[in-house]
Amino acid sequence: MTDGAQTATRPGRTTPEVATHCPYCALQCGMTLREEGGRVSVHPRQFPTNRGGLCQKGWTAAELLDHPERLTTPLLRDPASGELRPASWDAALERIVTGIRTVQAGHGRDAVAVFGGGGLTNEKAYALGKFARVALRTRHIDYNGRFCMSSAAAAGMRAFGVDRGLPFPLADLGQADTLLLVGANPAETMPPLVRWLTEQRQRGGRLIVVDPRVTATARQADLHLQPLPGTDLAVANALLHIALTEGWVDKEYVDARTTGFEAVRRSVAGWWPARAEALSGVPVADLEATARALGTAGRAVILTARGAEQHAKGVDTVTGFVNLALALGLPGRPGSGYGCLTGQGNGQGGREHGQKADQLPGYRKIDDPAAREHVAGVWGVPADELPGPGVPAYQLLDSLGTPDGPKALLVFGSNPVVSAPRAARIEGRLRDLDLLVVADFLLSETAALADVVLPTAQWAEEDGTMTNLEGRVLRRRALRQPPPGVRTDLAILADLAARLRASGPDTPPAPGEADPTDRFPTDPEVVFTELRRASAGGLADYAGVSWERIDAADGVFWPCPTEDGPDTPRLFADRFATPDGRARFHPVEHRPAAEEVCAEYPLHFTTGRVLAQYQSGTQTRRVAALRRAAPEAFVELHPDLAGRLGVGDGEPVRVVSRRGELRAPARLSPAIRPDTVFAPFHWGGAARANSVTNDAVDPISGMPEFKICAVRVERVEEP
Ligand code: SF4
Repeated sequence: MTDGAQTATRPGRTTPEVATHCPYCALQCGMTLREEGGRVSVHPRQFPTNRGGLCQKGWTAAELLDHPERLTTPLLRDPASGELRPASWDAALERIVTGIRTVQAGHGRDAVAVFGGGGLTNEKAYALGKFARVALRTRHIDYNGRFCMSSAAAAGMRAFGVDRGLPFPLADLGQADTLLLVGANPAETMPPLVRWLTEQRQRGGRLIVVDPRVTATARQADLHLQPLPGTDLAVANALLHIALTEGWVDKEYVDARTTGFEAVRRSVAGWWPARAEALSGVPVADLEATARALGTAGRAVILTARGAEQHAKGVDTVTGFVNLALALGLPGRPGSGYGCLTGQGNGQGGREHGQKADQLPGYRKIDDPAAREHVAGVWGVPADELPGPGVPAYQLLDSLGTPDGPKALLVFGSNPVVSAPRAARIEGRLRDLDLLVVADFLLSETAALADVVLPTAQWAEEDGTMTNLEGRVLRRRALRQPPPGVRTDLAILADLAARLRASGPDTPPAPGEADPTDRFPTDPEVVFTELRRASAGGLADYAGVSWERIDAADGVFWPCPTEDGPDTPRLFADRFATPDGRARFHPVEHRPAAEEVCAEYPLHFTTGRVLAQYQSGTQTRRVAALRRAAPEAFVELHPDLAGRLGVGDGEPVRVVSRRGELRAPARLSPAIRPDTVFAPFHWGGAARANSVTNDAVDPISGMPEFKICAVRVERVEEP
């Protein structure tokens, strides 16, 4: 069954059934949902990204639809008891509107902020951006995708003029003679993708993995480079240095399709392999073997993911690998290129349509006068009424409740209490707010702090579109209605917008506009039609992407400017999205981590995911099978380190940084370097990995340095 199989029921079948996609990661595996006797079951289906495969998270995704902890009524914090209590929608929305009006009257429009999520559909991400700029007229909106993709996005923008995670279909991975994965662990984060790696190696291709840990993916590799965390950029520069020395640089391509190579050539001249080995610990022989495998391959692909990107130099690190790809002439060549493995379900679409502080729909820049005119025209407001750019996610969260920061925050589809770096500090900021509103379908750690909690629909209860890691726009289809008492995000935004307009002087109805909710439609297809107009002519142009067109095929790749014209599975065949059509080299230099080890904090700390959990764990920690598979956090230690600390496998340890600590059982493994410890970030409370992480951010992308900080590990003496 392809994406075109949109029917709710098949002929002859009375059981409701719908072809849709997994609610979790950016692979967006195709699945069929079937409801029988009130029970919803998941069935994998053939789709180009998963070819009939699902991971355990996908198989169990329907369990949350009828979960006993599902929120089905708004909650209001009772000022007397301090408890969250059930309330009517009218009371909850009025509390929000009154709170917003009070805060904005006292502190200005920017005193209200919005925080979105990379799991929201394109329609919701678009509506949320519009709601912030038109209904609230605040510049403060950003989203948790800033913690996921932003460094690769910024590097792609400055090199190629556009940011699309994979500029080619996933199937191209299977065709690569050499595939270099940097800081990516798809065997645990998106297992169905591994079949492309298997296919690649069965064809005789070489898989090379760069990762400080011997991950499940690294174990499958022909060659595993295990650098010290935070030294990937030195590795990238050394690889280019070797390629230059050995004459593997594609001079014809560099001359014809790029600019700025000379400065990069000079900058990597000093990155002789022995210097990179001294810094990263990767042997010269492995660097040379990697450079040779890339430089002599007919087709080669370089992919980065969070391991390389979640650093205060994440943009430069990605740029180092982009420089390497460009020098080897890979981008735009069939079966070759550079790409980034997006993490969140709609991490790609979520950053294209206005959730980011500096962007308008279609990947337009909010400070570009022409972009403002275009989008304001679609929204029916004067361009000069649109606010300017806000600030990136961490900066926004860290300013909440401070004298100059927002005093109210509306959160949709995000759980920053668990997912933000230096999380205890952010938790404190949230507590300092005059008004915290959280829309979610479960009581996340962030929702538990809120003044108002709004119960929202789940993925199988509403229609919409998602854009997967390939830039392929997909249809999410509703199997059933939300339960009584639950509303969709679009309905919540429309109702809030109407109440705000009715209660305030800022946005009077336009002449002839009878219904003030007209500006915020609740039908997702109507929203998508508006999104198409807003994105028309932008980098991420969806103008030619209709729901019918998606239904008729296995999705549609953007840019797709006309309904009767082609979409774009592969970018950069003839030109890059820069004004002169050439890709840009940028010289980038290694620099130390924002926080280096010292006598008091002598170990490197890094974070990541495990197979059976997803993001902040709000959903997956509540799924019985996933909880059984991954019941609790852990701290991965090399046995040599554990021996020095006197810690046995399973014994509780404390990981302490300058910002806080986490407690979890030790898991001894030779898969990690003896100078580094690892913890997954899916848990809150005492086991919250982000209590420890560093809030230093990349100066270009705003990406926090999740992947390295300095810690000490202590044995916990328990009674
Ligand atoms: Fe869902 Fe990702 Fe697992 Fe596929 S790999 S089933 S999209 S979580």
